[in-house]
Amino acid sequence: MWEFFTEPEFQEKLDWMTAFVRDECEPLDLLFPRPGDPYDVHNKASRAILAPLREKVKEQGLWACHLGPELGGQGYGQLKLALMNEILGRSGWAPTVFGTAAPDTGNAEILALYGTEEQKARYLQPLLEGNIVSTFSMTEPQGGSDPKEFVCKATKDGDEWVIDGEKWFSSHARYASFFIVMVVTDPDAKPYERMSMLIVPAETPGIEIIRNVATMNERDDMDEGTEGYIRYNQVRVPLDAMLGGPGEGFKVAQARLGGGRVHHAMRVVGKCQRAFDMMCERAVSRRTQGKLLAEHQFVQGFIADSAIQLQQFRLLVLQTAWIIDNRPHGAARTHIAMCKVALAAVLHDVLQRAVQLHGSLGTTQETPLGPWWAYAPQLALADGPTEVHKAAVAKQMLRGYQPAPGLFPTEHIPTRRAAARARYAAILEEHDL
Ligand SMILES: Cc1cc2nc3c(=O)[nH]c(=O)nc-3n(C[C@H](O)[C@H](O)[C@H](O)COP(=O)(O)OP(=O)(O)OC[C@H]3O[C@@H](n4cnc5c(N)ncnc54)[C@H](O)[C@@H]3O)c2cc1C
Repeated sequence: MWEFFTEPEFQEKLDWMTAFVRDECEPLDLLFPRPGDPYDVHNKASRAILAPLREKVKEQGLWACHLGPELGGQGYGQLKLALMNEILGRSGWAPTVFGTAAPDTGNAEILALYGTEEQKARYLQPLLEGNIVSTFSMTEPQGGSDPKEFVCKATKDGDEWVIDGEKWFSSHARYASFFIVMVVTDPDAKPYERMSMLIVPAETPGIEIIRNVATMNERDDMDEGTEGYIRYNQVRVPLDAMLGGPGEGFKVAQARLGGGRVHHAMRVVGKCQRAFDMMCERAVSRRTQGKLLAEHQFVQGFIADSAIQLQQFRLLVLQTAWIIDNRPHGAARTHIAMCKVALAAVLHDVLQRAVQLHGSLGTTQETPLGPWWAYAPQLALADGPTEVHKAAVAKQMLRGYQPAPGLFPTEHIPTRRAAARARYAAILEEHDL
């Protein structure tokens, strides 16, 4: 049986979230609009507004819903989380208000999975309470999609690891209390066993933020950059700063990236829905050539194409969430890769149409559309480029196929017709066919 409905009690929660995000989170987007603002734990004004909002979320039992109950979350599972994240995706601040903002969600996940009791107490607990933010420091300036290219290393010196090298695009490093850094610890090991993860407190001597790189929806001249370009200059941490075992860096990274990708997809559904709502409002508001935009066929094409694309994407995301909830660990891998590819494409296409329908206004910063449009290429790279995920999907799809047995494909009509004739030869002969 395939069902497509939401339980009424849960729908009530979603309705509460919808109103709360619109009335309480979206004003934060307007007051503190820079992409890095939700991570700036030192901004007294934004924190003063944030604190009571978080209390309200906690009272509703909606705090950190990506986590299981043992970690202070509700254990709703991914399918319900998908419906919730659709709502949170409409606002830049909402994930922070609800305790589900990346990259802290992924970092919390790997601390919970691989952390020692001491690491959990020191790093995971304050992270879950929303008191601090953290950074995931994996990508390097000479290449990000292939970890085999990484060279930032840590060498053992007595009872310490000494980290030396550079990392690139460590998001929100400027606000982080600790960094989870992927380092080469055994250069001669097998390619995917050369690296380990180390947890480095932000105050450790030797961490140098070379610059906070600004993406295309941030202003470099206003020092708004969120992407830390970092040099670890002989940074020393104790041996027990390792998260997971030696050589498990790649495995630990994979554990956080899957969840992160599908959560991005869920939030993108929400962003696209909001852009779609704006597109439709515009279509029924604006007139040209004596009629509403909505009455022009090109515009109807924009609306229909967006609705169809968004609905297809939403169903893929919900099915992926269902597989994560109901099938063994790892069963959703290919679906997550599909979501990852689709999310950037759908956001790009829907936002492009929404910007176009808003005309000159769409190209300004006077609607949310411009910054979201600029976000699309970033989503085609963050957590791995589209091409890498497409290759993974194709590889998995091709796994179940064999080469054609003969010269022609198995679907070759003359060959199959000859076989059908041979099978029914007696009857065909009886009827002179
Ligand atoms: C907004 C944003 C936030 C990010 N946050 C973080 C973070 O917090 N921590 C972190 O460590 N990293 C982060 N990243 C980095 C991200 O993981 C990398 O951008 C990504 O892995 C790609 O690496 P790269 O940028 O070096 O691109 P490259 O590896 O140089 O790839 C460039 C292009 O080459 C092509 N290409 C690469 N590999 C293949 C392949 N196998 N087959 C075919 N074509 C290929 C693709 O077109 C790809 O887009 C973030 C990135 C963005 C945009």
